[in-house]
Amino acid sequence: MPLPRDLPIVDHHCHLSPAGQGVEAARRFRRAGGTHLFLATQSYEPRVPRSLETYAAQFATTESLARRVHEETDVTVYLVVAPYPVDLVGASAVLGVRAALDLHRSALDLAGRWVREHRAVALGEVGRPHFEVAPDIDRAADEAFDHALAVARDSDCPVVVHSADLDVAGYLDLARRADRAGIARERVVKHYARSHLTRDERSSVTPSYLARRELAQAALSDPAPWFLETDYLDDPARPGAVLDLATVPRRAAAVAASPVGAGPLRIPFVESIARVYGFTPTVEMVGVP
Ligand SMILES: [Zn+2]
Repeated sequence: MPLPRDLPIVDHHCHLSPAGQGVEAARRFRRAGGTHLFLATQSYEPRVPRSLETYAAQFATTESLARRVHEETDVTVYLVVAPYPVDLVGASAVLGVRAALDLHRSALDLAGRWVREHRAVALGEVGRPHFEVAPDIDRAADEAFDHALAVARDSDCPVVVHSADLDVAGYLDLARRADRAGIARERVVKHYARSHLTRDERSSVTPSYLARRELAQAALSDPAPWFLETDYLDDPARPGAVLDLATVPRRAAAVAASPVGAGPLRIPFVESIARVYGFTPTVEMVGVP
């Protein structure tokens, strides 16, 4: 069975860079059957952002890439913006921890404004550095993460969390942090999830699974919400470091052609988005270029 024409095919987390393949990668995604991308911002400069203006320029670069992708490929792009959690480490080295934390908070506030102005749909990536850091930076990272959750709560949007792969205890920690911040656990999305766990094991935190064959297969019978993503990096210096942007549509086509058919694909591509983001992606019935 081919993919139904009215089924959105959604990569829930990717990056594109003006220095990488950019629109060309999105065209490959479209040709493979993809229709919607959640595009996360990233630093496009070699050095860590040291001012709010740099973050504003960074978000604007992501937005203009999104606009070009939509205009040139007809793929719908949803923006996800926030200062990268690891920026706090580099910024602390040049600005000092307090000033770095202040900058990080201001950049999160800016990201929240983008959501409230409907220029972005979520805060991401937020979280903590995925490696060991000095105790003062560690405390600042906790404060930054809690601030991100508070901004998301006040902006009525989900957060896309960057962290090491989580086990049952790690998910519980994250869920408790969400509870303290007053944000629904379901609206906290652990991106780059590489272990398939039940909803109870995840303490109701939403996983965005790396679109590997076995993970996608294992998740298919799970109820919403959960997502599929490539975390495509679009970095010419690291070809093949992550899954290619065409992976989610290819996986979807394989599922549709298998005995289970395309039915379960509505869970990650429609129902989960409605549940977590509060809107339903639709496909304009136009020809595939
Ligand atoms: Zn990412």
